[in-house]
Amino acid sequence: MQQSGQSTAQKQEKNHSHHLHPFSDNGALKEEGARIIESAQGVYLYDSDGNQILDGMAGLWCVNIGYGRQELVEAACHQMKELPYYNTFFKTTHNPAIQLAEKLAEITPEHMNHVFFTGSGSECNDTVLRMVRHYWATKDQPAKQVIISRENAYHGSTVAGASLGGMKPMHKQGGLPIPGIVHIQQPYWFGEGGDLSPEAFGLKAAQALDEKILELGEDKVAAFIAEPIQGAGGVIVPPSTYWPEIKRILNKYDILLVVDEVICGFGRTGEWFGSDYYGLKPDLMPMAKGMSSGYLPIGGVMVSDRVASVVQAGGDFNHGFTYSGHPTAAAVALENIKILQNENIIEKAKTETGPYLQKRWAELADHPLVGETRGVGMVAALEITNNKEARTRFDDEGTAGTICRDFCFKNGLVMRAVGDTMIISPPLIISHAEIDELVTKAQKCLDLTMEYFKSW
Ligand code: PMP
Repeated sequence: MQQSGQSTAQKQEKNHSHHLHPFSDNGALKEEGARIIESAQGVYLYDSDGNQILDGMAGLWCVNIGYGRQELVEAACHQMKELPYYNTFFKTTHNPAIQLAEKLAEITPEHMNHVFFTGSGSECNDTVLRMVRHYWATKDQPAKQVIISRENAYHGSTVAGASLGGMKPMHKQGGLPIPGIVHIQQPYWFGEGGDLSPEAFGLKAAQALDEKILELGEDKVAAFIAEPIQGAGGVIVPPSTYWPEIKRILNKYDILLVVDEVICGFGRTGEWFGSDYYGLKPDLMPMAKGMSSGYLPIGGVMVSDRVASVVQAGGDFNHGFTYSGHPTAAAVALENIKILQNENIIEKAKTETGPYLQKRWAELADHPLVGETRGVGMVAALEITNNKEARTRFDDEGTAGTICRDFCFKNGLVMRAVGDTMIISPPLIISHAEIDELVTKAQKCLDLTMEYFKSW
């Protein structure tokens, strides 16, 4: 809602008097002032000073169909009039939950036919933790408790989500990770590959899973969880050898595979799911974000037939959320999926706009500050370096990334910095002309960052 008549500074002042922001230094933000986004259309955001900004991150990797789709507004409005809320506990269901569950079974891999609804990606991963342990307990193997994850993974911000994640700054706060979760090396060649080729490094990183399973004992390990492409960790596209080797290792053991599709799901890679892109056969698949293109909060864990049959036979599963299968959010998700299907948005991302984005993005590799570009479909990253050969950074603090990100925002582009890795994940509906604009702006901001370091 627009608070007309108030200046940006006045709104910022009110904001900081009463609002604590997620993943922010709230003290520093008070000095700087939060940017205020007031409206959006297509791939563009509009702020309280009237600036138009190209949203290279689709919000937080979620607005896959772009902003301003009236059909989703109408779906929410219609459902709110009919039944704004009811729960799915206590032997109850409702039409949007029934229809969305059926639709998700249709679009996800063939062996996945049940969904456990949540309100977010983090809630999905809390559900994962409890469901995999419940699964093994129901199968009379209660010792299979440990979940293996990866350093620098992101699986959410709740206690289980942050513990499953491998973010050190998150673990430092609140005594995480909780017991029963361990982390192995990530397949991040640019940062950790040393002298190995990407292919050799991919194999090595995958073999860390085998080593960890042998160290812990197969009888103790419940599951391995991973994002197909690490998102918040810096769009880490694993070397081509990584996933085939992980698959080979998991085939040897009776361990569940959890593929976190919160970012990759609903078209980000040019396929419906990252699992389709890499040919993975997950036992559980947490999903959120693109499910409703972020228009309303909703998520769900897709459950394979193998796990669902055990959960169904296992008596009460004492877990759930007030908003599991929220009818209005479910109606909006259904409409969103209908648009993705009817307008062939994912197909176009695979065959037209995705390849064009990757081609244009790869041109940035010629920039003196860029050590590597990488990407898949509609997600990409570049590494800022002060030495392309040695793959070293300007400093340890990720200052270059932050500087580049701030230049981007001032020049009408949202491009996110993860340390010195710059990442993009635009709405899937971005046009060729808008991709040109994105790359031109990114280039300009890299130039500005270089000038800054020259005068350093
Ligand atoms: N898993 C992944 C892979 C994510 O990227 C995120 C959020 N960025 C989450 C889980 C957590 O989702 P949420 O913020 O909706 O809780």
